[in-house]
Amino acid sequence: MEIIPLFSGSSGNATLVRAGGTNILIDAGRNCKWIVNSLLEVGTDPSDIDAVLITHSHVDHVSGLDVFIRKYPTTLYATEQTFRGMRYRFTKPHESTPDIVIVPGKEFEVAPGVKVTSVSTPHDAAGSCCYRINFEGRSCMIATDLGYMTEDIEHFATGVDAMLIESNYDRRMLVYGDYPEDLKVRIAGDGGHLSNDDCARAVKFFIDNGTRRFILGHLSENNNTPDRAHKTVCDYLAGFDLFPGNDYELSIADRYSPSKSVEF
Ligand SMILES: [Zn+2]
Ligand SMILES: [Zn+2]
Repeated sequence: MEIIPLFSGSSGNATLVRAGGTNILIDAGRNCKWIVNSLLEVGTDPSDIDAVLITHSHVDHVSGLDVFIRKYPTTLYATEQTFRGMRYRFTKPHESTPDIVIVPGKEFEVAPGVKVTSVSTPHDAAGSCCYRINFEGRSCMIATDLGYMTEDIEHFATGVDAMLIESNYDRRMLVYGDYPEDLKVRIAGDGGHLSNDDCARAVKFFIDNGTRRFILGHLSENNNTPDRAHKTVCDYLAGFDLFPGNDYELSIADRYSPSKSVEF
């Protein structure tokens, strides 16, 4: 299996997961052309996408979906509330593609042997969820846009081989930054995003439960930097004698272009 973040951050998100010969696109949060170019850059023809999984209806996850799904018809998976939330984004029907409504906690199969479980995420979009993908004894979790780490996500992600996890904001940058107060409250609230500190604690939990490969993603453009996210997580883990290279591998998903593939 492989995780390849195509682009990641508050300005747009999409991730490619390869499971054997199956290509899964998680979210489509920049225009179709950008998604297509990103896929081509990593050697995947957009018409070879076997499934599109949507986490939630926020614009940074679905802005390119309408055009992409009509140009490259494939099966689209989302929760009922997410379908409802993004209905107005579809300018024309995409009848050639059967939409599949998923229920958090229930496993479904996107291709023979490729099993997916969605898990509800605490986030201010109705029906928001994240995904675990299993294939031939390997597994990964893509978990962004969560106000806090839930026991459910911990449960479903326990033991995955690799994880793309949100490290959205640096607490000090958010507090002392120039965002309006209500937006600061929203981001740091239970329906917002994971801070670098929250992420560090979560990574510790998953290392303790057997995961080694981590990609930090969905970094805020204004309230974080890749260096800060990386340092916060590594410094926290160093306090438990856990060091990158030895005990875990850590990379950062790039905001604009495809990041290095994580294979497992
Ligand atoms: Zn969101
Ligand atoms: Zn988002």
